[in-house]
This record gives sequence, structure tokens and C-alpha cells, in this order.
Amino acid sequence: MTLFRRSLAVALLSSTTLAQAPASATAPSTPFGFLDFTAQAKLDAAFLAVPDAALAGQHLKTLTAAPHWASSPEDLKTAEYVAEKFRAAGLHTDIVPYKVLLNKPVKISIEAFDAQHNRLMSGPTPEHVDPSDHGGDPFQDDPRILPAFNGSSPSGDVTGEVVYANYGNLADFKYLADHGISVKDKIALVRYGGNFRGVKVYIAQKFGAKGVLIYSDPADDGYTKGDMYPAGPMRPESAVQRGSVQFLPLYPGDPETPGVASTLDLPEAKRKTEAQTKELPGGDQPSIPANPLSYKDAAPILRALAGPATPHDWQGGLPFTYHLGGTPAVTVHMDVQQDTRLRTIWDVIGTIDGSDPAQKEDWVVAGNHRDAWVYGAVDPNSGTAAMLEAVHGLGELLKGGWKPKRRIVIGSWDAEEEGLIGSTEWAEQHADHLAHAVAYLNTDVGVSGPNFNAAAVPSLKQFVREVTKAVPSPRGGTVYDQWLKDQAEGKGRRNAAPFTAGRGDRSEKDTDVRVGDLGSGSDYTPFIQHLGVPSTDIGSDGPYGVYHSVFDNYNWFIKNADPTFVYEQQQARVFGLEILHMADADVLPYDYHLYGQDIVHHLETAQAQARSAKLTLDFSVADTAAKRFEAAGARVRTVQTSAAGSANLPALNASLRSVEGAFLNPQGLPQRPWFKHTIYAPGEFTGYAAVVIPGVNEAIDAPDAARAQAQLVVLTDALNRAAAILEAAAK
Ligand SMILES: [Zn+2]
Repeated sequence: MTLFRRSLAVALLSSTTLAQAPASATAPSTPFGFLDFTAQAKLDAAFLAVPDAALAGQHLKTLTAAPHWASSPEDLKTAEYVAEKFRAAGLHTDIVPYKVLLNKPVKISIEAFDAQHNRLMSGPTPEHVDPSDHGGDPFQDDPRILPAFNGSSPSGDVTGEVVYANYGNLADFKYLADHGISVKDKIALVRYGGNFRGVKVYIAQKFGAKGVLIYSDPADDGYTKGDMYPAGPMRPESAVQRGSVQFLPLYPGDPETPGVASTLDLPEAKRKTEAQTKELPGGDQPSIPANPLSYKDAAPILRALAGPATPHDWQGGLPFTYHLGGTPAVTVHMDVQQDTRLRTIWDVIGTIDGSDPAQKEDWVVAGNHRDAWVYGAVDPNSGTAAMLEAVHGLGELLKGGWKPKRRIVIGSWDAEEEGLIGSTEWAEQHADHLAHAVAYLNTDVGVSGPNFNAAAVPSLKQFVREVTKAVPSPRGGTVYDQWLKDQAEGKGRRNAAPFTAGRGDRSEKDTDVRVGDLGSGSDYTPFIQHLGVPSTDIGSDGPYGVYHSVFDNYNWFIKNADPTFVYEQQQARVFGLEILHMADADVLPYDYHLYGQDIVHHLETAQAQARSAKLTLDFSVADTAAKRFEAAGARVRTVQTSAAGSANLPALNASLRSVEGAFLNPQGLPQRPWFKHTIYAPGEFTGYAAVVIPGVNEAIDAPDAARAQAQLVVLTDALNRAAAILEAAAK
């Protein structure tokens, strides 16, 4: 998944040069968390010299040679390839299977008719570009390509009039209702963008739709954004965005086992029934069919819609006026047949044992998913190729006798695309151990272009910035320098419009490079939002219009993203250095002062929101608790930087890492108990974008004053628990 946590990348490609020698970019000063950096600086230099651009390119080519949808034989082959590379680097490696519910399309037929029953469209049209146009596409005719479908869609054979609902946001459906256009027993036609696709289906289902078609409008990632593939990077007219329509904001992972790992020996009785997975709010599967469409197939439907013209900002990029529909002018027949059953998926887990007797069980977990909707050159295997080169670097350090303080665990997750399944099942299985893991470091889309970007829990925002200061950029200077420059020019910002939740993206009070907040849509979700493991997510972005289509393949990648793989090399270096620093830090480099500032700011914003919603709420105790946490964070920061000679660093570290866990509420969020974090969650009605202090903010949005006040109490308790830990550590 992942795309919409990041900007749709309006950046122009900058000229790329070969990466500089790593020696020119050693960190200027001692990074936060190291008391004496001399030995670590040598390790860093040795590590940075290893990740190889050409080797990353070879990994990418091998991993993307065939479509490798989760649970397919080709997916297993990629698991074996990754395992072989992990073992070659000296990692203890296992291929870990889980048995999970996945749907596979058997028959997909979408037809549209006008009022006289003349056929307007019969699809879906296979994804295809002209072989004589810019060399065409060498991958598009592989018979193993599955028809474009939505993960988690049930089977269904439905016929109905069509209503156009823009992005399928809650506000869009409310607009239709306010203007007398009902979607009840109709088929909702929505465009991609604005929120997570599963949320579109969630809202459409709540409003009574009997089916959902989700299409890619050229205004969002097609020809109005740039040249279409194969001439350029944007979406050609037949290209379809596949994707899961699981109700991710309720819970991710195997739909039948929230909170429980789907190991091969899990008794049937521990699973929800397939019917239970479709009951709200306990299940996360839609009960109405959904399917994606290209704009080639959506255009004849949109063109024929009658009814009032849409509001101006609902108009997409097709050359006619869009109408709201809901009349007999167009009828669509969707016949979507799925083979839904338990299938085996494979995570690959590689570990390097820790050497510090007091801290070796405090895991540093890093990961990336491996499964793809089709070839997945950008999403996710640009991340996998870089991860393998990071592992290559760690392997060379191991050969030189290095042993990390803390255990390093590297995960190559499967079935992320279906709903973060491989990572969630593994995290649920190891929840006890992960309760004291020090970090989860994620990458999904490693490289789609030259603009580095990151999101992180606030305690690790400064950590990510420092790591990027130690890695050279192919564009000169450090990754950090270019990141700062890109942001000043408005490029590559995560959560940029139209995908912003409107809150939480801009929170730091300083003027440093912005690190985004973690929403959802990738594998950090179970770690931070279910288990309270401090997490980061990194990648390098560019214009990328072929997301989840056949055309996200090696040919697109070398033409548009990173022809010489220097950004792959950069990504491997940043990712590897994150792992290395987190595994070896003397004092865990969490900045709780900054975290506290963010929370104080989130409360101020929520208070303003409550006032404009005319809700009378008492924020005073929550404010006091947030300021208490911020002050304790500032005090403990002094202890962290002056801890030299402290006899009990492991005890200090144990306290520091337990703070994030103190933010968990065992009851979870109202109606979605799997999400336990009180500061961050994916929004119920956004999905990808983070909602900060979600219990409070979603109650204000509802609006529900009683629930908001109760959630303020929950938040206050969490803040006081966390502050007490910091105060004790600062003594
Ligand atoms: Zn992905």
C-alpha cells in the first residue's frame, strides 16, 4: 500500500549524479544517544561503504520478474530469494507461514447500459499500452496477471443506477444526501484519492449502496499531472489501481483473527466465521461488492450520468461536465465472483543476536513488505531491494566481528497489500516480546523518485533527521540537505493535499525539516498503534502514476524512478543506519520533550475545534497532564545527554522505552478496540492519514460531547502514566 501517506509528488526530476563517496558525509557531531561516538563513527563509515547501487538494481529485477501476489507460487519464490540473501549476510533466517483469509477473483464483469438498454461499456478492459509508443511495455501480456480487483471485496451480482460520489469522503456522501440524491440500493461510483479506498466502501455501505466502483481520474494521477506511461510516469488510460477495501480503521490483519496470530495450528474455533467478519463493528470486511476501474472504463458511465451537475471541485479531468446521477440514464451491472478462502502466506524473518546481557532482548525491528498486486517494482520491491543492500552492509560488519548491543530483527512481510496481514500476524504472535522492543523501522515504497521523505512518532523525528545528516545525497550534500531544500520548494511532502487529514501534519514548533505523522496504510500500524513500539517510515518519492497497476514494473522504474539505482543506494544507507544506531545507542534516542510539545499543540487544536463545533468540554486536566509530560520530557532529555558514566544505562533505557507503551489504552478506541494508542490512529473516515489524539478528535467531529469528555479522561490518564515514568527516570 503506502502511496497516499506521501505526496502525489509534483516534483520535477532533478538531474542525478552518482553518489559521493560515503567518507565525505560523516555526521558532524555526536548524534543524540551516543556518549562517545568514536567507535560508532568507524562502524558507520564501514557500513555506508557497502550498499551497492548495481546490486540493488539486480535485486529489484529478480524480485519483480513475475507477478507475485501474496500466497502465489511466485510470491514464495521471492520469499526464498530474500531468505537466501539474509542467510548469506549471516542472519539467522526463517520463512514463517501464516494461514489467512484472502479473496482471489474468479470472474469480474462490469457492464453499463443507458435507459434504452443500449450497452455503454463492457469491461474491465485489460491493462494495455500501445507497443509502438515509446517502446510499449514488456510486462503487460503475462498470463499470470490477475484481473484488477479489490482485496476484501465479497462476491456479488448487483445491478443498479449509478451515483457519482466524488472521492467518497464522508462530506461527499453528506452533500449528496443534503441535495436529495440517495445512494440507497444504487451503485456508488467514486474516484481514488482523498482517503483510503476501504473507507470509501465503508461509508458507501453505511449510506446503503449495493456496490462500489472506484476509478482513477486523470485529474488525480493521469494526463493532467504529466505524460502518461510509457512516454512519462503518469497513469495510462487502461491502468487500474488495485487495492484492499478492508475496513482498515477497524483493524488490519487476517479478518478472522483480530488480536490473534493466524499460525498454521490455530484452531478453527479461535477464528471469526466469514459471516462475522462482515458484521460491524466487530468485523472489518465489506458486505457489498467493490471493484476498481480505469478511467477508460469509467468514462462512458460518467459521460452518460444525468441529474444535476457536480460541484466545481468534484469535476475531474475527463473532457465533459460531470453529473451526480441517480437517475435511470445509466444502469451498471457488476458481477464480481471471488474465491475467498484460507491461503498460506510467508514472512521472512532474519535476526542478529544482541550482545549486551542487559539489553539483548530489547529488539530493534525493521521491515518492508514483499508481496505486490502485480510486479510491484516501486510498491514494495524498491523497498525490498534497498533493505537487502542494508542487510548486505550489516553482514559485512558481522564479518568484521561487530555485534549489536540489541537484537536486530528484520521482517520481509507478506500480504501487506491485502491489509497489513503478514506484519500484523507476526506482531500479534510476538506481542509479549514487542512490549519492550525499542523501535520498528518501516519502509514500503523505498524509491519512486528523488525526494526523500519520512514520517515518525514524535520521539523519533529528531533521530530520523540525524540519520539523514550522515548519508550523502546523489544530488550533492546530505540527504538531510536535499530534504530541507525539497520542503522549502514544496516538493515531496508527506500527507500533502488532497490527502491530508487537516490535523497533525504540521505540529512541530521548530523550523526544522518536517517529519510527518504516522497514519496507516503500511506495516508500522500493528507496531505503533496496537503495541506501542516507537516507529518510523522512510522512502524517496517522485511522480508516480502507476500505483497498484500492471505498469508498476521494472521497465517503468528504470525509465522514471531511478535508472542508476543511486536512490536505492541512498535508501539502503538511511535504512541501515537507522537500524545500526538504534541497535547500538548507549541511551535510547527518544526525544520526549518534542513529543510533549506536539501533544500540547494537538490539544490546543482540538480545543479550538471543539469551540467552533460549540461543544462545551473541560480540557483543563488534559492540558495540565500534557504540560506535565512535556516538562518531564525536557528534564529527562538532560539526563539522556549527560548520562556518561551512569552505572545504570540499561535501567534508564528500560524506563525510556516503556513510555510509548504507557500511551496505550487497553480498551482501545470506541468501536475499534484493536487500535490502542491514545495519540495516533488512522482516521475512521480517512484511513491513511493520521488522526491525532483520535478518541478526542473523532468524538468532537461526531459531534458527541459526552464521548469527547470521556476520551479526554482516557488521554489524561495515559499522559499522566507516561509523565510519571519520565519523572522517575529524571530523578
Ligand atoms: Zn506497499
